[in-house]
Amino acid sequence: MALLSGKKGVIFGVANEKSIAWAIAQALHREGMELAFTYVGEALESRVRPLAESLGSRIILPCDVTVDAQIDSVFDTLKKEWGGLDSLVHSLAFAKKEELKGEFLNTTRDGFKLALDVSAYSLVALAKGAAPLMEGRNGSIITMSYYGSEKVISNYNVMGVAKAALEASARYLAADLGPKGIRVNTISAGPVKTLAAMGISGFKAILDMVEAKAPLRRNITQEDVAKTALYLLSDLSSGVTGELIHVDSGYSIMGM
Ligand code: NAD
Repeated sequence: MALLSGKKGVIFGVANEKSIAWAIAQALHREGMELAFTYVGEALESRVRPLAESLGSRIILPCDVTVDAQIDSVFDTLKKEWGGLDSLVHSLAFAKKEELKGEFLNTTRDGFKLALDVSAYSLVALAKGAAPLMEGRNGSIITMSYYGSEKVISNYNVMGVAKAALEASARYLAADLGPKGIRVNTISAGPVKTLAAMGISGFKAILDMVEAKAPLRRNITQEDVAKTALYLLSDLSSGVTGELIHVDSGYSIMGM
């Protein structure tokens, strides 16, 4: 029997076929999970809808995570359609392009608020919506981070601070939701060429550095991340919560 047959999951963060969330969705679908998808705005809907439908998904909903009413509407629909939820994938982030270059010192108050709201607070809001649907089902939530939360990466700036807040939020949520049997874990992915990554100034240099210095001497793929996501969203990781797993070809273990 497939690992996830009979299970239901919602994916936040598919923009196109390069999205990390899309590779995760495909891996979950292969293992039998029924999926719902969200998108932001009409332009992305036209990309997300055909992808979601190709996996047989019926529930495809708008959700800008800065809008509480849209978040509520997603979980209301999932409750009505499915009655419960097993998995939630949080694979989204945003910062203004001008905040992702130059000195962190120049971060604006508005830019800081926006990056932290979309990229970190959203995990709290989504976990709050999902928790009542996950009770009694050993629910599992995952989120995506990057090494720029732990060390200074040129140009990553406010997003590094947002990722640090995201990782800490995941640990606090794991503590709150653990007694209900719900697990919350973080994947810290190495750099991958996606729409979001293209907004980071000098991104190619980060890819080159990983290829030259990481123990595996290659960059990771979306599929590498998806395999770890499958582990974290399935019973294979039943005893794991509040954890952060690097899927980065080992880059983060290297000193000199
Ligand atoms: P992507 O551009 O494909 O996905 C980013 C998603 O964020 C998009 O689907 C976009 O619609 C969504 N988003 C932005 N603002 C939103 C909002 N207000 N409400 C709801 N959704 C919103 O890029 P990706 O690289 O697949 O990014 C997915 C996650 O992985 C992000 O958290 C990113 O920081 C993280 N990550 C990416 C890399 C990388 O190098 N690509 C490395 C480590 C971690």
